[in-house]
Amino acid sequence: MQPVAYLRHAASLDHDTGRHPERRERILAIEAALSERDWDGLTRMEAPRAPEDALLAVHPQSHLDLVRGLAERGGGPIDLDTVVSAGSWEAALHAAGAATHMADLLLGERSARAAFCGVRPPGHHAERGRAMGFCLLNNVGVAARRARDAHGVERVLVLDWDVHHGNGTQEVFEADPGVLFVSIHQWPLYPGTGGAGEAGVGEGEGYTVNLPVPPGSGDSVFLSHLVHVVAPLARAYRPGLVLVSAGYDAHVDDPLADCAVTDGGYGALASGVAALGGELGVPVGVMLEGGYDLEVLGRCVPLTLAALGSDGPGLPDVPCDPLSDEARARLRRWWPGL
Ligand SMILES: [Zn+2]
Repeated sequence: MQPVAYLRHAASLDHDTGRHPERRERILAIEAALSERDWDGLTRMEAPRAPEDALLAVHPQSHLDLVRGLAERGGGPIDLDTVVSAGSWEAALHAAGAATHMADLLLGERSARAAFCGVRPPGHHAERGRAMGFCLLNNVGVAARRARDAHGVERVLVLDWDVHHGNGTQEVFEADPGVLFVSIHQWPLYPGTGGAGEAGVGEGEGYTVNLPVPPGSGDSVFLSHLVHVVAPLARAYRPGLVLVSAGYDAHVDDPLADCAVTDGGYGALASGVAALGGELGVPVGVMLEGGYDLEVLGRCVPLTLAALGSDGPGLPDVPCDPLSDEARARLRRWWPGL
């Protein structure tokens, strides 16, 4: 069995957000937990800086200049939630570099069957030309573009299970059928986008799939969406790579949202995605997004990694939630086999 790669970089600790839920201790909690397990089965790797062309595939030069310039001047706020410090540009470069390196490992060298990027700042709220929601560069978007531009992968599936809508990733790819973006998120909640009616634009219509869930939703709804919506979509789409925007803020203990996913739920989500990758014969790359309870991160990230590295139980046998039924009916317009 090929090992699971864990990509990290010390620069993640230098993105200084002050008193803020998205803080360096998140990475320290994850790495302390993995270290306690002796990094069992993981190949630890240092993430390089992302090459400029990989960033420019997602963001305009003006956006890169703005974030870099702000960091060079010592930092400052971008909006109420999003701050840049002196070390933030370097952190963002290595976070996006983890994304490109992950794509290279999984698709070029094929030296791992799965990889996890334990880096920050997170990325899924960052739009092409706008940093927001704790995010500066859209890391998962950079990985998807790298897969296509450098490795000739025609179709990439991005599953975003962060409790917040991945508005940035949606905006980057909303007109692009080469990326099937599926987001499961609490609704209503920040950033306010991600309604079920947002389905992509132009050529990309049908390739943006929003699965909003009400506050209080837990394992049963999240797993039902994975098994009864995401898996059949993936079988129809036949991606060459599966990427996950993995937030751990849908956990019942998370302070920023109101969902109720358990440790076991996250383990089952990860096992299910690993099984789906196996069934499709494609690698799985996971980017850390949100998740603000340090103990949850310390438990659920190792569970994710264990699932990625094992031939576990596969897609769970869960009943189809009425919300999944509704989504399937809505999506049949573009995905008639659903
Ligand atoms: Zn989130």
